[in-house]
Amino acid sequence: MNFSDIINRLKLNRDLPDGELKFLISSDEANEQLALAADEIRRANYGEDVYIRGLIEFSNYCKNNCYYCGIRCGNTKAVRYRLTKADIMECCAQGYSLGFRTFVLQGGEDPHFTDEVMCDIIAEIRQNYPDCAITLSVGERSRESYQAYFNAGANRFLLRHETATDDHYRRLHPKNLSLQNRKQCLFDLKEIGFQVGSGFMVGSPYQSDDNLLADLRFLQTLQPDMIGIGPFIRHEDTPFATFDSGDLYKTLRLVSILRLMFPYALIPSTTALGTIHPQGREMGLRAGANVVMPNLSPKRVRELYMLYDNKISTDEEAAESVDKLKKKVVSAGYRVVTARGDVKKEN
Ligand code: SAM
Repeated sequence: MNFSDIINRLKLNRDLPDGELKFLISSDEANEQLALAADEIRRANYGEDVYIRGLIEFSNYCKNNCYYCGIRCGNTKAVRYRLTKADIMECCAQGYSLGFRTFVLQGGEDPHFTDEVMCDIIAEIRQNYPDCAITLSVGERSRESYQAYFNAGANRFLLRHETATDDHYRRLHPKNLSLQNRKQCLFDLKEIGFQVGSGFMVGSPYQSDDNLLADLRFLQTLQPDMIGIGPFIRHEDTPFATFDSGDLYKTLRLVSILRLMFPYALIPSTTALGTIHPQGREMGLRAGANVVMPNLSPKRVRELYMLYDNKISTDEEAAESVDKLKKKVVSAGYRVVTARGDVKKEN
């Protein structure tokens, strides 16, 4: 098959038949041409702009036991922490002064953060920073809870579907978690009015290219505003400790395919990409990503939010090094902007 022809049709139609999409997913040789096409589409929609999000990892307690994740409840070696409301407000104040206009509150599914506690935090951030977006990434909750967070002032929600194939989902998660519920959460969040982000890991254990194709098809149904993907990276204290980590180049290829299928999407160049390769962040931007999410959490807890081995938390990952990050982004051919960076969707 001829790459140029297939990639041109993907660029034009934002879609391809299953066979051709799978061919691109599996072809290492397609990377360069895919990245060039993705960059063209990204510049047409967002110019050179790269949006920055201040990530606040506010708790590593989690009631779930996902087999891949370092903060799973079954990992007794994890040293647990949770931030107070005052800690979180301090992170926001520091972030605001550094130029961040989006705060992302991410955490394990920590029962301490009841709806009341969450709404109190969200409302205070909303009151103090009316010009900022508040993004939540707190996992699966009831529709009523999501509605309460939205009413309190949250605007966006990140919930990766992880894999859109039922039996693959069951191999990555214990029985009490279901793909059906995760998908329902995503559709609920959308209906409520959140800007919604979803996504998946690349190279997670037992993943096939058919699974990745199903992920792309699911995203076409969901039409998310944000799409976060990154390589699976093993964690030594999980049941998946001996599995290989996901492939850098396959992840980059999928970033480019996503950019071509979802030209409007906000796509982060993820910490996981930066962890598996020293230039992973820049490579992700050049492959079509347009968001970076440095860490605003207090330094004392950064090394404790260890989702996978060697997760990076210094240099460009650290919000206080935003100048270094800006230089890196410029060296990749783009520029960091101080803006909320809402989705530019046509519909
Ligand atoms: N609890 C929330 C949730 O379930 O969406 C947010 C926190 S969760 C730790 C954030 C994301 O980390 C997950 O969606 C998953 O894709 C990613 N993650 C967890 N373990 C990982 C690993 N070993 N390698 C790469 N990504 C991982």
